[in-house]
Amino acid sequence: MKAALNADLHCHSTVSDGVLAPSEVAARAHANGVTLWALTDHDELGGQAEAMQAAADLGMRCFSGVEISVTWSGQTVHIVGLDVDTQDATLLEGLRRTRAGRAERAREIGQRLAALGMPGAYEGALPYAGNPELISRTHFARFLVEAGYCPDVQTVFTRYLADDREANVPMKWASLENAVGWIRGAGGCAIIAHPGRYKFSVHLFSRLYDEFKSLGGEGIEVVTGSHSPEQYIQYAHVARRYGFLASCGSDFHSPDESRCDLGRLPPLPPDLKPVWHDRL
Ligand code: AMP
Ligand code: MN
Ligand code: MN
Ligand code: MN
Repeated sequence: MKAALNADLHCHSTVSDGVLAPSEVAARAHANGVTLWALTDHDELGGQAEAMQAAADLGMRCFSGVEISVTWSGQTVHIVGLDVDTQDATLLEGLRRTRAGRAERAREIGQRLAALGMPGAYEGALPYAGNPELISRTHFARFLVEAGYCPDVQTVFTRYLADDREANVPMKWASLENAVGWIRGAGGCAIIAHPGRYKFSVHLFSRLYDEFKSLGGEGIEVVTGSHSPEQYIQYAHVARRYGFLASCGSDFHSPDESRCDLGRLPPLPPDLKPVWHDRL
């Protein structure tokens, strides 16, 4: 019998808001028993060459990957693209446009934090961003912890930076249509990331699934570091109902911050068709 795969198809490196370099993430995934891996940095493919080379050197199977920020119905939704052509010009240009505006937003986050009594956060967060084009709320959170304003990153989000908190500056990210179109145009599989994190009504969730599917979206994350075990069951049900392929990934960012380490998730329910089914 073929040994079951330990797939981890969602994680981050210093190319976005993770703390390890792409090759270090690969090494940690491999050490933790991952046999099929994808690095999915936010809005950026700059870490893929290093990631794929490191995976090849370790003898670990690997897909290319990206996590695209989308604005849909007034909320941020993340769409993972797996097995994309990392040289695809339309995808690269779309990601470049999606990243634009982060620097200006970061300055505004800095101003809001200053108004809340935490000055210097923009200058403080910058050195945490390994990729200056990809300064994110996570980098601010790490700075505020280091500066002693909060005990940990999670607390920073709960108090100041979560979507509904005062220092968050909302962005108009890519459209769902564009994100799915770029991924498909680059030969990849589009996947709704961590659906359990979105605050949509039942009605809006079904609209999201219908629209995503009609655009050619194929997958949904069922088992992720962002879901509770009850949510594994809930989104497995969604996968069956809509005929989505199922994906799984830790959403690992840092050994100190992530709820779930690389390779430490339970397997997908065996009746679901996994995203890698027709791609290995
Ligand atoms: P950004 O792309 O700058 O809006 O930042 C989004 C990132 O912030 C996500 O990818 C997560 O890594 C992190 N994040 C967002 N919301 C939370 C939260 N409530 N708790 C912890 N991390 C969060
Ligand atoms: Mn992140
Ligand atoms: Mn995400
Ligand atoms: Mn992620």
